[in-house]
Amino acid sequence: MSHNRRALLTSAGSLMLLSVLPDSLLANGATDTRIRRARPSDAAWPSQAAWKRLNDEVGGNLLPVHFPFDVLKSAPNSATAERLLNELAMELANPYWIADTPALTQTLGWVDAWVSRPSVYAVAARNASDIAAAVRFARANHLRLVVKGRGHSYLGASNAPDSLMIWTRHMTDTHMHSAFVPQGCQGKVAPQPAITMGAGTHWMQAYQAVTTQGGRFVQGGGCTTVGVAGLILGGGFGGHSKRYGTAASSLLEAEVVTADGSIQIANACINPDLFWALKGGGGGTFGAVSKFTVRTHELPEYFGVVMFNVKAPSDEAYRSLLHAFVSFYAEHLFNEHWGETAYVGSHNVIRISMASQGLNREQSQRAWLPFLDWVKKSPNGYSIAGPGEPMVIASLPARRLWDADWLGEHWQELGFPSPVLQRDGRPGSTPSDVWWSGDAGQVGQYLWGYESLWLPSSLLASASQARLADALFAGSRHAGIGLHFNKGLAGAPGEAIAAAKDTAMNPAVLTAFALAIVADGQGSAYPGIPGHEPDITKARASAKAIDECVEQLRAVAGRSGSYVNETNYFEKDWQRAFWGDNYPRLTEIKKKYDPSGLFFVHNGVGSEAWSRDGFTRL
Ligand SMILES: Cc1cc2nc3c(=O)[nH]c(=O)nc-3n(C[C@H](O)[C@H](O)[C@H](O)COP(=O)(O)OP(=O)(O)OC[C@H]3O[C@@H](n4cnc5c(N)ncnc54)[C@H](O)[C@@H]3O)c2cc1C
Repeated sequence: MSHNRRALLTSAGSLMLLSVLPDSLLANGATDTRIRRARPSDAAWPSQAAWKRLNDEVGGNLLPVHFPFDVLKSAPNSATAERLLNELAMELANPYWIADTPALTQTLGWVDAWVSRPSVYAVAARNASDIAAAVRFARANHLRLVVKGRGHSYLGASNAPDSLMIWTRHMTDTHMHSAFVPQGCQGKVAPQPAITMGAGTHWMQAYQAVTTQGGRFVQGGGCTTVGVAGLILGGGFGGHSKRYGTAASSLLEAEVVTADGSIQIANACINPDLFWALKGGGGGTFGAVSKFTVRTHELPEYFGVVMFNVKAPSDEAYRSLLHAFVSFYAEHLFNEHWGETAYVGSHNVIRISMASQGLNREQSQRAWLPFLDWVKKSPNGYSIAGPGEPMVIASLPARRLWDADWLGEHWQELGFPSPVLQRDGRPGSTPSDVWWSGDAGQVGQYLWGYESLWLPSSLLASASQARLADALFAGSRHAGIGLHFNKGLAGAPGEAIAAAKDTAMNPAVLTAFALAIVADGQGSAYPGIPGHEPDITKARASAKAIDECVEQLRAVAGRSGSYVNETNYFEKDWQRAFWGDNYPRLTEIKKKYDPSGLFFVHNGVGSEAWSRDGFTRL
């Protein structure tokens, strides 16, 4: 039967036939053996009447996707092109504008890897039924399907030309629970405080609901405009993950549309295998999630920030500084109170940009004293400065961390040299449509290179600290290295580590003290737009420097693994790097819930069966 069917599939006529095969024939285990998905130029592309039926089914929410930059190429001298170019500088720097534009993604491309290209149509889903309709339509018509939340994927996993998009941007309902029990878990799982969020929610909306209004904490991402969906499905770290663990390990339940078009619940008691895969197995792979319910935590009294730079006057002084910092970190900061980043710059400057939880200002000052004393007393002549002047050591009531109005009034009092938030400000936007000024450089960016590597905590042992510091120095001769302490869970409380162990992420995260990220790119850039062209020569040189830098770190960290949400598009050993020993189990779950590979993303579970663009089964 399957042999005959495969033979049939080779003729164009049968392509048309297949696109009208009832869904029931494709369901019930009949595996789709076609080798190529349809494009608009193919005879098998759905007719206008078929698209109209889909539009009716989703309540008129099927949108043809227009690429806003096309007019710059098709009518470069038109008034529209002129207006667009004028607005572009502003709009391409606004993550909310990008999120509202179905054709665009927050990362607009990556040199020699991918460029953001729009889908042909998007279903602007309002609920799980709309998502299910899109899934069934894509499946019946053999379309390339993409799922987009807030579009922050560095790997271009939420865009594909010639595709149908499920766009969850408008699914932003949130609901707080004081005692949530997952369905089917009554009597098996203790009730917990939680929040349910629509798949299009971004973290600022979650923080508003949980912290600013609700006085509790939810583990989400550091960048406020990142989508809840992509972050949780890939693992997910925020500034305080050293205390609360990953976002994926907070997941209690998901409502998800699987490849057969059915709406499923996944939790510890129903579809537990799918539930496990959704916790870090990667976005856009096991189904399209319509809702996430995650646990919330008691809020500590304080959150805080420490920001300053130390500049060394010579290479040798910088090497000593790195030795001193590694030793200081291991002794004083390697615990649940401290997250975020120390950036080991390539021009002999270390930039501290760290987040604290549970410490008031005096306690933070005390924690940093040994290092600051060492720097001041050193004969090497270091200079210390803040991001402007003076250095920032601040603590604030935890409830105010994402309170845009409060921060708008108090940033100077906290010691910041400039406003910490930028605002959307377009008509109709709300006061909490904001993003951290520190993330502004990544809006509309075109990547030159990106790599991440977990650094095992064994490198912090006294006998290894010198090797680590020397590797950081050697790497920094090529490119700057971000040490993201909150993205390695060593040093976290046992319960946070145990919860993360029960997720699909590479277990290397459990024993790493940090994730080293080496990356570079260009803000607000897209090929072919005058004034916004990516600089390809610089990009390729930078990509090479990043590779050389990371080689120095691998020399001490080994092939420890990389975080799927923040990683190298060109990673060759991605199955092991992203998921370690969990990969075979993930592959089995993929086969069970999506045997025909409807859900495809670059270097996602099961993607080895497809061409790089996800159109051709290999
Ligand atoms: C500026 C910036 C800052 C970042 N900061 C952090 C950080 O602090 N911590 C951290 O851990 N990561 C961070 N990241 C990485 C981030 O976690 C990933 O890019 C994440 O995948 C983005 O999710 P999204 O929904 O915004 O993106 P999208 O590009 O929309 O989606 C990402 C992936 O998830 C899939 N997906 C989206 N919605 C769904 C759904 N409903 N069902 C199934 N699949 C879906 C997409 O198909 C895609 O594969 C950052 C990224 C950027 C660009």
